[in-house]
Amino acid sequence: MDSNASLRRIPSVDQLLQSAPAAGIIERFGRPAFTEALRSALAQARADVRNGHNPPSVETVMAAALASLEATGNSSLRPLFNLTGTVLHTNLGRALLAHAAIEAATAAMREAVSLEFDLDSGKRGERDDHLRSLICELTGAEEATVVNNNAAAVLLVLNSLAGGREAIVSRGELIEIGGAFRMPDIMARAGTRLVEVGTTNRTHARDYRDAIGLDTGLILKVHTSNYRVEGFTKEVGARELAGIARSKGIPLVNDLGSGTLTDLTRFGLAQEPTVREAIAEGSDIVTFSGDKLLGGPQAGFIVGRRSLIETINKNPMKRALRVDKIRLAALIATLHLYRDPARLSERLPTMRLLTRSQGDIDAQAQRLAPLVQHALAGAFSVAVVACESQIGSGALPLSTVPSAGLALTPTESSGSMLAELAAALRRLPMPVIGRIERGALVLDLRCVENETGFAANFAGIANFDVGVTRVNKAGEP
Ligand SMILES: *Cc1c(COP(=O)(O)O)cnc(C)c1O
Repeated sequence: MDSNASLRRIPSVDQLLQSAPAAGIIERFGRPAFTEALRSALAQARADVRNGHNPPSVETVMAAALASLEATGNSSLRPLFNLTGTVLHTNLGRALLAHAAIEAATAAMREAVSLEFDLDSGKRGERDDHLRSLICELTGAEEATVVNNNAAAVLLVLNSLAGGREAIVSRGELIEIGGAFRMPDIMARAGTRLVEVGTTNRTHARDYRDAIGLDTGLILKVHTSNYRVEGFTKEVGARELAGIARSKGIPLVNDLGSGTLTDLTRFGLAQEPTVREAIAEGSDIVTFSGDKLLGGPQAGFIVGRRSLIETINKNPMKRALRVDKIRLAALIATLHLYRDPARLSERLPTMRLLTRSQGDIDAQAQRLAPLVQHALAGAFSVAVVACESQIGSGALPLSTVPSAGLALTPTESSGSMLAELAAALRRLPMPVIGRIERGALVLDLRCVENETGFAANFAGIANFDVGVTRVNKAGEP
């Protein structure tokens, strides 16, 4: 058949729109999207026919259009299993929220709320009113406000208290976290001149004292979240710095990064500075994140002296950095959990996951190993292994928590098998993200709370072409 005759036999858009399955597809995706998908499928069909293929049937074009609608209809922001071993993984969305926080956020999404409305007086209120007394109770601070994230908190504080003036920072604390947040760049954007003091490994009290002049706006202390300077080192603690700052009449700002509202050693974790300690040591302003160890939604807290926070609140930038009602509701509910620290490890997912014992996780690994082995049909060997989980997001950078997991090792050596397996795991209905380590794909099970859901989801791996079929093609039925 010549190609023109074949082209004429390709179904038309109208014909396809009137075919039996069309109504259901239009119901799901809407007519404009469906028509567009049909046009693309038809364009592809015409190109195929010109290359010598037979004209497609109505069913084939419909199936192609439906497949493309389904592929693009899914959000690319997908829930997944975080088996990387990093509990607060920035790329995977950090903290999982507590049940109470989810309920509060959902209610705030569904109904009008007293966001900036005082129910007692019937007059206008402030968003910070809902949070102030709670956060002050938990930290010992005089006043508090909250913004989009901790990067915003640092930016706003620097701009409000040292805009057009100098901020003094130790060379040992000029941090970069995750690429985009570099202290010198944030300072520049805040309109603050950075005055570096000391050296990378040693900064003395006299270095700070000598740097203070008429143009000094503040002293900034930064928690070195994601590294430690070890060996021949000297840093000036917040208490001593607070004394220096006070004697010169300038504020000490302490960026804790993660920070925590409770003593983590009570949960068997390493010591991380608490916000209460930072305030008690004399920091005038303390900044910290909402979605790191605190275990809430993304947010940045600014707590400390009332007069300074009043200045910060008057900065027009504050309006651009404020949080919405949904996050505020989730934050308040999360903070409420801290009023009962004994039950935190049960009610706050971040704490619950971080405190799971190795024995508990190992038992889970023993239960899951045969199921995972079965799903992988002999292409990989599955071993229960001990591993170390990290907290992540710059909290306790050097300390890990003993954990357990499954190490999946290809049974035949092939360079690409691990990468193929990792890719297949990412294509599961609920993607599974592990880490490749020393020739194996390791799945740290610390964050698997829904074990049956995990097992059912993992069984789907049998549908993919990873090693499995290669082994089968090699001759085994
Ligand atoms: C994480 C961190 C920040 C930034 O906090 P985000 O909430 O990610 O914006 C700032 N300073 C320090 C020391 C940090 O560890």
